[in-house]
Amino acid sequence: MKAIAAYPSTKEVRVIEQHAPYLTEPDHVRVRMLEIGICGTDKEICAFEYGTPPEGSDYLVIGHEALGEVIEVGPAVNKVKVGDLVVPTVRRPCSHPECNPCRAGFPDFCITDDYTERGIKGVHGFMTEEVVDYERYLHIVPQELREVVVLTEPLTIAEKAANQARQIVDRLPWIMRLLQEEARRLNPTAVVLGAGPVGLLGAMKLRVTGWQTYVYALQPAPNPGSDIVEAIGATYYSQGKIPRKALQALFGHIHLIYEATGVSRLAFEVLKMLAPNGVFIFTGVPSLKAPIEMDTDMLMRNIVLKNQLVFGTVNAGAEDFEAAITDIGVFRKRWPDALSAFITSHVAPEEAPDLLLGKSGGIKNVITFGTSARTTKRE
Ligand code: BGC
Repeated sequence: MKAIAAYPSTKEVRVIEQHAPYLTEPDHVRVRMLEIGICGTDKEICAFEYGTPPEGSDYLVIGHEALGEVIEVGPAVNKVKVGDLVVPTVRRPCSHPECNPCRAGFPDFCITDDYTERGIKGVHGFMTEEVVDYERYLHIVPQELREVVVLTEPLTIAEKAANQARQIVDRLPWIMRLLQEEARRLNPTAVVLGAGPVGLLGAMKLRVTGWQTYVYALQPAPNPGSDIVEAIGATYYSQGKIPRKALQALFGHIHLIYEATGVSRLAFEVLKMLAPNGVFIFTGVPSLKAPIEMDTDMLMRNIVLKNQLVFGTVNAGAEDFEAAITDIGVFRKRWPDALSAFITSHVAPEEAPDLLLGKSGGIKNVITFGTSARTTKRE
C-alpha cells in the first residue's frame, strides 16, 4: 500500500510501501482514501520546518485534508456504513486527566500541548491508500459533494473562527439593543488577508453570513484567486498597489480582519489599522524567523482605547466539521463554478513529492488515490 512520507533525519520525502491497516478496536472503521488536499503546512513539514513523526518512527506519513470511502466497520460502529463518504478530523486529544478541553471532546482547545494531529504531530496522516480510524472522528458527507468536499478541513478554520467571533461581537452591549433594522444599517465589513484556500474559504463564509468582504493579497489581479473573490461578490485588492493613505481608509472602518497569510509582519502592520471595537483573527502558523521590531505601545494603546479584540484560532472541533460540510453544500449551490475553480489539479501519488517540494502554484492541489487516480490540471 502506497503512502507519502517525510523523513526528518535524511530530509527526504518519498512514496513508500506500507502494510494495509486492519481494525483492532470494535469502533474502528477502515477507510479507502480518495483525495488528500495539499496545504502550506504539508509543504512546511516537507521542508522540515514543522511536524513530528510518531514516537519510535523515523518518518511521518503526511496528509490531513482528506476525503475517503468507508470499506469496513467494526462491530460497535453504528453511524457510519460501508460505502459512506467521510471526512476525518485532524486534532486528537491528549491523555492528561487534567486537560478539561480534551476530556470534554475539544482537543482543538488542548491546554497541555500533548495533543496529536494526524499527518502533522505525533501520528501518521491520510496521504496513503487506506487508514483505520475511530468512528467518532469521521464525518459523513453527502455523495453529491464528492467533487469539492475535500475542501472541508481548510473551511473548518473559518467555521470555528466565525463561531468564536459571533460570541465576541455579541460582547458589545449596544449590539443587543439595536433594532434589527438598525443592525442591517451597520453594514459590517471584513478584510481577509491572503487569497490562498484558507483566505478564500474564509471570504466565502463571510459572504454567506452577510459581510461586505474585501480580500487583500499579494498577487496582482486578475488571477484564479481574484476571479473567485469577484465571483462571490467580494472585492479584491492586491498588496502594494494601494498607497498608505488609502490603506488606512480601507482598513480604518473594518469591523473584522481575518488573517490567512501566516506572514506576521503584514498581520501586525494591518492590526495597527483595526477600527474601534474591531476583531482581528489570526489563523496562520508562521515558520519561526528572526524577531522583528514592533510598535508595542501603539498596539497596546489601540487595543485598550478602541476595545479591540485579537484572537487566534486553530482548527477544529467536531461541530466545525459539521458546519463546514453544510456550508460546502451552501457554497456549491450559490457559486458552483467558483467552488470548482478551487481545485487546481488532481495528481497521482507518485507526483506528490515533486508537488510538495516544488512551487505548486494554483489554489488547491489534490492527491488522488485508487482507481480514480488521475492527473488533471486547470490552466
Ligand atoms: C491544519 C490544522 C492544524 C494546524 C496546526 C493546519 O494546517 O489544517 O488541522 O491544527 O495546521 O498544526
